[in-house]
Amino acid sequence: METRQGKSVFSGVAIGKLFVFKKAKQVVEKKDIEDTAAEVARYMAAKEKAGEQLKLLKEKTLRDVGEAEAEIFEAHQMLLEDLDFVEGITNMIEQDKVNAEYAVFVTGEQCAALFLSMDDDYMRGRAADINDISSRLIAILSGTQVSAEAMPEPVIVMAEDLAPSETVQFEKDKILAIVTQKGSANSHTAILARMMNIPCIVTADIDLDPSLTGKEGIVDGFTGKIYIEPDEVTRAVMQEKKKREEERKLLLQSLKGLPTVTKSGKVIHLYANIGSEEDVDSVLENDSEGIGLFRSEFLYLGRNDYPTEEEQFQVYKNVIAKMNGKKVIIRTLDIGADKQADYFNIPHEENPAMGFRAIRICLDRVDVFKTQLRAIYRASAYGTASIMFPMIISVAEVKRIKEIVEEVKDELRQEDIPFGDVELGIMVETPAAVMIADMLAAEVDFFSIGTNDLTQYTLAIDRQNQSLDSIYDPHHEAVLRMIQRTIECAHDHGAWCGICGELGADMELTRRFIQMGIDELSVSPVFTLELRKKIREAE
Ligand code: PEP
Ligand code: MG
Repeated sequence: METRQGKSVFSGVAIGKLFVFKKAKQVVEKKDIEDTAAEVARYMAAKEKAGEQLKLLKEKTLRDVGEAEAEIFEAHQMLLEDLDFVEGITNMIEQDKVNAEYAVFVTGEQCAALFLSMDDDYMRGRAADINDISSRLIAILSGTQVSAEAMPEPVIVMAEDLAPSETVQFEKDKILAIVTQKGSANSHTAILARMMNIPCIVTADIDLDPSLTGKEGIVDGFTGKIYIEPDEVTRAVMQEKKKREEERKLLLQSLKGLPTVTKSGKVIHLYANIGSEEDVDSVLENDSEGIGLFRSEFLYLGRNDYPTEEEQFQVYKNVIAKMNGKKVIIRTLDIGADKQADYFNIPHEENPAMGFRAIRICLDRVDVFKTQLRAIYRASAYGTASIMFPMIISVAEVKRIKEIVEEVKDELRQEDIPFGDVELGIMVETPAAVMIADMLAAEVDFFSIGTNDLTQYTLAIDRQNQSLDSIYDPHHEAVLRMIQRTIECAHDHGAWCGICGELGADMELTRRFIQMGIDELSVSPVFTLELRKKIREAE
């Protein structure tokens, strides 16, 4: 047995097979090959595997997103089997005696160039598909292909680091725990792990030796320990710990259906944070009273192009309908910083956390913004929707947003498309927004305090920087005073105020938030019942 140590960012115990996740670097080397028949066979096997992956992806997309998006994978399957493409690769292996990775790479480049030279827009668009297929094949051939659909059973994922665009591609029920060499406690990967209710350990001193894949491992999210090939005693101790945790959670079930109200009668709205439609199951299971933060940008991650209005509409509508009249607050896309999607073509930035992101992108690319707003407004006819806008720093931004919202509503009216009564709010996550909170409160219905970014910007500490984790302190008096001021300004101007950053679930502060006058707390669904208990015990 080997023991490794890291920093736990979400508790729980996971027991299962290890899986080493290596990013596909895709540096393709040319190698001379003697046995060309064996190389062709290697390519054929990779092709078959790629076909299986695409089939699974198509089914998953059909289930989770919709028919139009699933067709992309069908097109990929056809291109994968395209005779010119296949023959181009096998001929090259046989005639030039080169390795399969190189043959796929060169043939892929040639096909993509051919598509790009065509007049027809549709055909030009196929170049991206060919690139995608080549990458998939090369990744499989070089053994770097690791994606959720490739995992045969639920696993403990071990990686150097995980970007949100990678994490969103995992099948959630195939991951037992996440362990990374890098990563910070405040990163979106940690947030996603909490949302998925699985143990997560960052800055772990693990090796990423591919031979670990398939070995047994145990992750103790309480102590930050990882056991590789555990001995009998450790396994028995950890199984007992897991059982106790399950029993503790079972006890909390008795709080389901009870109101979230303090001993002195103050009602706190206890909402949930989600990143996808799938998360709604956990929201309902944990009896959250609404959705206080739908991180809609996750719909934009892990894909090659913008989600269409129709696709977004379906997702928002399904979430709103499933919540059956309970409030659903959708945050407009907060892309940028660590949440990157290549097709946005955001130029390289030295300091992306303070760069072109979130509402700044939306107000610059109004067509992208309007597509999302139209989708949300259309979905609002199916229940209770609210919208909030991230990274606000000025009243001018809010006024411009409201103008665009009015334009969208006018368009929908002209098209006779129904929509509901939608509350508008903003995230308060910059010191600027706190300082002008009185002016902003006069413009909106509500505030939701994003303590993750508010801590980062107030303390001037990059939330992604693992070496600063020890001084990233959301309990800092400066942050707490900012929260206090934001709540007061909201109430003075008739707006309500909640917290949707991770601090909302920090039960050491629950009493203090209640004393400050907080109206709502929005947390990962798994914290709901425990937080309800805490609130019901508070004076
Ligand atoms: C926050 O900043 O607190 C927040 C809720 O948003 P995100 O973590 O997605 O930046
Ligand atoms: Mg934020």
